[in-house]
Amino acid sequence: MTPWYRHIIDLLYPPLCASCGVQRPLDHHIFCLDCINELPETGFHQYAENPFTSHFKGRIDLKTGAAFLYFSRGGGTQRLLHQIKYNNQPELIVTIGKWYGKQLLQSELWNEIDIVVPVPLHWKKQRKRGYNQSAVFGEGIAEAMGITCQKNALRRSTHDKSLTGMKRLERVQTIGSSFVLVNPNLVKEKHVLLVDDVLTTGATLESCALALASAKIASLRMVTIATGEL
Ligand SMILES: [Zn+2]
Repeated sequence: MTPWYRHIIDLLYPPLCASCGVQRPLDHHIFCLDCINELPETGFHQYAENPFTSHFKGRIDLKTGAAFLYFSRGGGTQRLLHQIKYNNQPELIVTIGKWYGKQLLQSELWNEIDIVVPVPLHWKKQRKRGYNQSAVFGEGIAEAMGITCQKNALRRSTHDKSLTGMKRLERVQTIGSSFVLVNPNLVKEKHVLLVDDVLTTGATLESCALALASAKIASLRMVTIATGEL
């Protein structure tokens, strides 16, 4: 429940748009109208095959996949991602997750999902930041879909090698060996939605997908908050 003083604070200092930080957000929203109109949505989720899924073709068995936004340098998303990454605003990411979850449900490609599994953050990073944004995004999506988010299904092991200079396969194998399924029965025979924050090389998602496949899941879909140009 919102504490009583929150209403007074909001009255004196109305919250500003989560993207531009200048204008007032629309009612029941986190962005202003200008920012909503400018939001670089990919629309990938409406197509079973799209640039996101092509990125993983031949690498993993993927039912479908999508990124919510394009991450473009200097654009609105970069500002938004900066807010997400550095301003310690888990509520903002939950809201974005719920928003995207509702969009996903409008497409029949996404309506058989049983469980959301976020990519785990390295414990050192999590301790520094206080939360895992992939997990928070996943919780928002799961809430919108009325299913559970199993944020402890996957675990990173503690050893780390630098991935710089490695070939793709080498990188996947190194990262792959560092993800462990904590309890395979949690995901066995389930339609799984794997969630991460940003799609870059895809090596992390690919490694998590391989760990999930070892538990004989029913199907795999993946989403991220954002992606670069694919
Ligand atoms: Zn705005």
